[in-house]
Amino acid sequence: MKKLFVMACAALMTQVGVAQERGVLGQANTPNVALKSINLGDCKWTEGFWADKFEVAETNMVPYMGEVLTGDVGHALNNFKIAAGMKEGKHQGMHWHDGDFYKWIEAAMYVYAQNGDKTLLEEIDGYIKIIGEAQEDDGYIQTQVQLRSNVDRYENRKYHEMYNTGHLLTSACIHHRVTGQSNFLDIAVKHADFLYKTFNTDNPRYGRFGFNQTQIMGLVEMYRTTGNKNYLDLAERFINNRGKYEVEETPETQGYPIGDMVQERVALRDADEAVGHAVLALYYYAGAADVASETGEQALVDALDRLWDNVTNKKMYVTGAVGQAHYGASTNRDKIEEGFIDAYMMPNMTAYNETCANVCNSMFSYRMLGLHGESKYADIMELVLYNSGLSGISLEGKDYFYSNPLRMVHGSRDYSKHNTETPVREPYLECFCCPPNIVRTIAKSANWAYSLSKDGLAVNLYGSNRLETKLQDGSTIILNQVTNYPWEGTVNITVEKAKKQAFDVMLRIPKWAVGSSVKVNNEAVDVKVVEGEFATINRKWKKGDIITLDMPMEVQLVEANPLIEEARNQVAVKRGPIVYCVETPDLPKGTKILDVYFKGGAPLKVNYDKDLLGGVATVEAPILIRKDQTKEDMYSTVDVPKFDESSIQLVPYFTWNNRGKAEMTVFMPVIWNNL
Ligand SMILES: [Zn+2]
Repeated sequence: MKKLFVMACAALMTQVGVAQERGVLGQANTPNVALKSINLGDCKWTEGFWADKFEVAETNMVPYMGEVLTGDVGHALNNFKIAAGMKEGKHQGMHWHDGDFYKWIEAAMYVYAQNGDKTLLEEIDGYIKIIGEAQEDDGYIQTQVQLRSNVDRYENRKYHEMYNTGHLLTSACIHHRVTGQSNFLDIAVKHADFLYKTFNTDNPRYGRFGFNQTQIMGLVEMYRTTGNKNYLDLAERFINNRGKYEVEETPETQGYPIGDMVQERVALRDADEAVGHAVLALYYYAGAADVASETGEQALVDALDRLWDNVTNKKMYVTGAVGQAHYGASTNRDKIEEGFIDAYMMPNMTAYNETCANVCNSMFSYRMLGLHGESKYADIMELVLYNSGLSGISLEGKDYFYSNPLRMVHGSRDYSKHNTETPVREPYLECFCCPPNIVRTIAKSANWAYSLSKDGLAVNLYGSNRLETKLQDGSTIILNQVTNYPWEGTVNITVEKAKKQAFDVMLRIPKWAVGSSVKVNNEAVDVKVVEGEFATINRKWKKGDIITLDMPMEVQLVEANPLIEEARNQVAVKRGPIVYCVETPDLPKGTKILDVYFKGGAPLKVNYDKDLLGGVATVEAPILIRKDQTKEDMYSTVDVPKFDESSIQLVPYFTWNNRGKAEMTVFMPVIWNNL
């Protein structure tokens, strides 16, 4: 069987021939995408912002997280050892802990794809062996169920079996693509075949099991890796199951909200509003985008277009974060947790914004970028990466936020009542889904930097890097990108190798980059440069050609749609892709964040400080500090307030809370200078 499988894989590879068979999404043969993933490891950050972040991922994030998860505190490996009969003990951690361990393995594989560290691979292969031994003969593997004698397989969807399955399948595909080995993939094949046997049925008992549905993305990657169409069919079945069954409490659903919370109230093809748990929703949409890219079904693509538009234009924060509330209700009046509430209802202080949800927003957008080839999707990926993604982890790479609000006020909330919201980052979260999610995203970021189009390639993200890959026709392309982005707006890309025939280089012009210019070899080129679109240069490239993109990096003040009551008469400060915040270490001693007003209309100065927060550009801004201290009454009369004027530095939002416990705000009430 194994031999047959290897032969099938080899046949698939031969058929593919050239590029993308080892992409972060395995889109080599995917028919309905405009932009395809480059092969893992083909792009490497060389210096600057993302090279620094990747280095922290390589030296701190992945090793430290590995120590935690394979040790007694994290207990993830222990769970597999106990299930394998190698150790005594009980399951510890959340029901989705297996999935979080697979996510960490995936992160480690992205690091290995960049550095080829054999020691890391040997370590991971050791863990894979244990996972294999924990797997049951029929392919089932879920330690949270196996280690509980009073729980049956697929007894209740709260046990997150689908979530763990999805991460197993995805992680195994990445491991296979990076290493060429099949030790992890064999486990995944056995498991996916078991899943197919169990769930490829019209029995309603299994119809509502797609809960936290990473299995859809995982199954599509398994289809792409092995060519077995059963996996794609099953992925599509999980899409089709939603909205098909009566939404009612059953023994399988008890313990978790039903309906919109888990995407089962409305069939996806009829949906026009993002609802429910933000992570559950966005993993589902991302999986549906993968399915649509294989099947080409227009109704599915249309629904995803509506949902992406609803998420990013009605329910997303200026940081790219999503999931406004810890508890609430959908517009269909289903109870929801950790998710979307009404359009334009955007609280700052109590914003939930789970790191996973923000990461999922970028994953969904990456898939939409593939489907449509439009740069607006990469704008969202970038927004998340620089802001609400990175805010989930400390600069050192060892402490994590689960929740990413836009304002922190001491004493405003009783954190003892919240299990996931914390005033400072924590070194270990009992619910450990977010840490490996942001770490795998940072570790794979170079693979998102470029995509391959039919006629060339697209530059999605900027950052100094070297790209050596093959275009879709099999020709080699080598590019060297040099830039101090995001602190400066000039990007130089040197062509080191290219085919003789003309091809496209598509440069993303971010929506905020009004007035950008593009030159080749220091001469203007006849190309449409429009913010919010790709600028496509088609020419015969030759070695030594230098493409220069200049993006103006003026500080911009951002105001919210007037329907967002929580941000009325407030502004946020943004420069390039970076959202800024005010943090108490930068305020006169004793100043409360709620007394800070922004003085609009005054000049703003940018300073680069290499010694601050790992090296950041700060924005020097005049502020007004209200002197009549905020009263404790719910309502009180007010006279004309008095203000002190001060000049302070604003720091990037993602760096907040790296200088101890602090208050912080992104949006500030504004007093316009010229009034
Ligand atoms: Zn999470």
